[in-house]
Amino acid sequence: MRALLIGLLLLLQSDPLADALHTIDEDTLKAHENVLASDAFEGRAAGFPGNEKAVDYLLKEIQSYGLKPAGTDGYLQEFEFETQGETRKAKNVLALLEGSDPALKEEYVLIGGHLDHVGRKGQLVGGQKGGAKNGDEIWNGADDNGSGTSAILTVARAYGKGQVHPKRSILFAWWNAEEAGLKGSAWWASHPTRPIEKVTYCLNLDMVGRNPERPMDVEGTKNAEGDTLERILTEACEAEKLKISKFDHSNEAMFRSDGASLLRQGVPATMFFTSWHADYHEVGDHADKIAYGNLAKVARAAFRVLRETADLPVGLRINPDTPLGGRPLGIRGEDVKLDGDAGGVKVSVVAPDGALGKAGVVENDLIVSFRGKPLSSTRPLADLWKRAQESRGEGACAMEVLRGAEKKEITVEWKR
Ligand SMILES: [Zn+2]
Repeated sequence: MRALLIGLLLLLQSDPLADALHTIDEDTLKAHENVLASDAFEGRAAGFPGNEKAVDYLLKEIQSYGLKPAGTDGYLQEFEFETQGETRKAKNVLALLEGSDPALKEEYVLIGGHLDHVGRKGQLVGGQKGGAKNGDEIWNGADDNGSGTSAILTVARAYGKGQVHPKRSILFAWWNAEEAGLKGSAWWASHPTRPIEKVTYCLNLDMVGRNPERPMDVEGTKNAEGDTLERILTEACEAEKLKISKFDHSNEAMFRSDGASLLRQGVPATMFFTSWHADYHEVGDHADKIAYGNLAKVARAAFRVLRETADLPVGLRINPDTPLGGRPLGIRGEDVKLDGDAGGVKVSVVAPDGALGKAGVVENDLIVSFRGKPLSSTRPLADLWKRAQESRGEGACAMEVLRGAEKKEITVEWKR
């Protein structure tokens, strides 16, 4: 009887989500920050020894989490980049939690943040504001982006060691050379180590450790079609009692950080950002100024967002009205796979004042090509959106549309 009672109690107490969230705590975050933002890491400028130290630290941590390597060389992906007239090398760090559903584990949700910062005096990577002060010549970058780097470490550990097993796979990415112009994330987006068209969502954490008294900016709540993403983001932050300011698409910061590299490829992306402060890119961005309690909430909210987005029966897709310099498409549509390696967008809703509505696209049209090139077979709508956004300012673009048995050419005017 006693054994039965204890068994019953254990059963009642076992809550994999609560157990996993419990491991994302202030002390762990502080310990990571005290290493990453220490003077020994010399401000982690990409292409310099302090940055290599940070990569080694991440590697050692991740190897103990039980996650799979997801780089090109184990957990690492090396790339070359140009900065200040020099060619340098740096490494992204990538790990994977394999999805639990055989039918969905080849799809991915991604959480990323940059591990680099702007270095120490004399290291030319740009972005060193304010100059050395009171003998301090190291830009430690505790908030930018030691905070996001540490948060993703705790989330990765909670998934790797815990008992929460989402259906889709989760990719953990620590991008490098962001401060040199989003180099690492852009490199991955053009040399993805998992098929980027299978990435259904990206959550970017950059500067999430300061300003605990003010709501956190959540940028891109409407970057996915429908209201599912916004609901997930809102509920995850509410569950952690984390106050937020929501921005449908971007409130500027997003396009200055790595989420933009994935968004540009048609991956719905969100950014968590606790906003600017006086130590931004100054030598005083130190670990003792981080609001660890709030940072833990941010990391736990991120854990929840990943679980929810990874478990959706149908993965998130780009909202075609997401601005990226170009105009909103003003349509909704379904992806259709066509013969060969081609795809189409079956239009279900047309906004009359949108770019495509004005051009004459109507419901039930099947859009099959844009500027003479067929749409991709894997993500036609995202492909159409991406190419339309890229073509901004180029005036008129021809699209091929099937209307019933009839093939029509429709010219879209992109200039506002
Ligand atoms: Zn940053």
